[in-house]
Amino acid sequence: MLGGMQDWPLRIMRLLDHAEREHGSREIVSHYAAGERVRSNWAGIARDARKLANALERLGIRKGDRVATLAMNNGRHLVTWYGTIGMGGVLHTINPRLFDDQLVYIANHAEDRVLFYDAAFAPLVDRLKAQFKTIEHYVCFDPAEGQGFEDLIAAESEDYVWVEGNEREPAMLCYTSGTTGNPKGVLYEHRSTVLHAMTEISPAIFNLSASSVCLPIVPMFHAAAWGLPFAAPIAGVKLVFSADYTPQLMCDLMREEGVTHSAGVPTVWLAMISHLETSGEDLANLQGVTIGGSAAPRAMIEYFVERGVMVSHAWGMTEMSPIGTSGAPPWNWEGMSKIERVDYMCRQGRVPFGVELRIVDDEGKVLPRDGKASGRLQARGPWVIERYFQDESGPATGAEGWFDTGDVAILHPDGVMQITDRSKDVIKSGGEWISSIELENAAVGCPGVAEAAAVGVYHPKWDERPLLLVVKREGVDVTPEAILEHLSGCVARWWLPDEILFVDSLPHTATGKLLKTALRDQYKDYRLASAA
Ligand code: AMP
Repeated sequence: MLGGMQDWPLRIMRLLDHAEREHGSREIVSHYAAGERVRSNWAGIARDARKLANALERLGIRKGDRVATLAMNNGRHLVTWYGTIGMGGVLHTINPRLFDDQLVYIANHAEDRVLFYDAAFAPLVDRLKAQFKTIEHYVCFDPAEGQGFEDLIAAESEDYVWVEGNEREPAMLCYTSGTTGNPKGVLYEHRSTVLHAMTEISPAIFNLSASSVCLPIVPMFHAAAWGLPFAAPIAGVKLVFSADYTPQLMCDLMREEGVTHSAGVPTVWLAMISHLETSGEDLANLQGVTIGGSAAPRAMIEYFVERGVMVSHAWGMTEMSPIGTSGAPPWNWEGMSKIERVDYMCRQGRVPFGVELRIVDDEGKVLPRDGKASGRLQARGPWVIERYFQDESGPATGAEGWFDTGDVAILHPDGVMQITDRSKDVIKSGGEWISSIELENAAVGCPGVAEAAAVGVYHPKWDERPLLLVVKREGVDVTPEAILEHLSGCVARWWLPDEILFVDSLPHTATGKLLKTALRDQYKDYRLASAA
């Protein structure tokens, strides 16, 4: 047939080219650890990315080579993302909060050739340098430390033609913060990243436009800051980066930079809310927050809603680039009561076009989307993993491309997905399942409870019964009876924890989730009084 459309490969650098051309003066603001605030814009990022691409070529880096970063969010880190991808390299973000042996494993497994790092992580780099087998060049983002980033690019030409290629080529590598076994690498491609980014700016996900100012309170090493550095250039969003997430600094940045959108895990919002409550500060111009990475407690959602901030409760995973679902307002939003709206936001939302979900039972039988059945959540789509990086054991997907997420969920008839647990975290009591997430979130709604974790401990009659570990809110006294009383109004009677223990703190993973494996280990021999 004669005629047709153009072949325009979905390559990541087209995102930056677009931002430079159409939104060149839109700012990128970075608050560095030393306290300096550096201002650039999309044109500046593009210019520096070209200089960096030249510098990487000078260092001998070639198409497909891995270039690693060990850094918090900042503009130089962003330049490194685009400069590396632009010269055909594969950008590998490393999570500095991992244990030493995991860091060594990851860098060696990825065969990184260059490592860019924040000065704050210099001690870590010095400690592990001897064990990094493939890294030839170390570059510090902060000017004061040895061969710095600015020195590296200073004399380079501002001209560079991005390396072209197939849209299915790899662009970025990100390891999962798995709690058991070695971390696994997820390789993002140009096409998957661009499709994901195009979806992200839509009202279904982040709802970004040229007037948005976004402060990602999610690190660039956590599933690519949830894709925001790739979505932002499409809409010409102003980005605000910070090296740390102290609530006072977040408040200052929100107020001074006019932040309209932010995104982060519940732990950072918990800290933020407790700061706002004691300091009396407000959320300035904030219009929307995305909460994800772990389930958002109801009390947290209510806090934002009461202040006129739209909450988008999102679910995803590193293996999904990471967006799977998000809680954008449904068609009947206007007619919903306040309680109905909060109920809706407590669930994890709906899929955008590009993600398909289903739930199956332990035998793999597909379960109905009836709002009642709960089963193993599976996903597929163009930004969902096919196979882990350098994994000889075969594809990560089963028949027909379905990827088993390891989560347990309910699908509602209106398309809303509700995570009930990680499959390993469900508490199995008398052949039935108790959702640890629901217990925890209900507990956090009790005044005086700062954080809570529910784990199943051995019980001779019921197999497992819930034990609730609670961190008290500073300066507030709360009793186990008060918590039980509160929980009775939220969950079924047989879900109530057999015991409540107060602890000073709870362990978290490198991405801010409750570290359930450690808790299960710690309490595996715990004898409940009810088991006597
Ligand atoms: P990661 O790849 O580190 O981001 O972890 C992905 C996992 O985090 C998912 O498989 C879920 O278990 C959990 N998760 C992410 N978002 C949510 C959410 N909104 N509610 C409950 N769990 C979540």
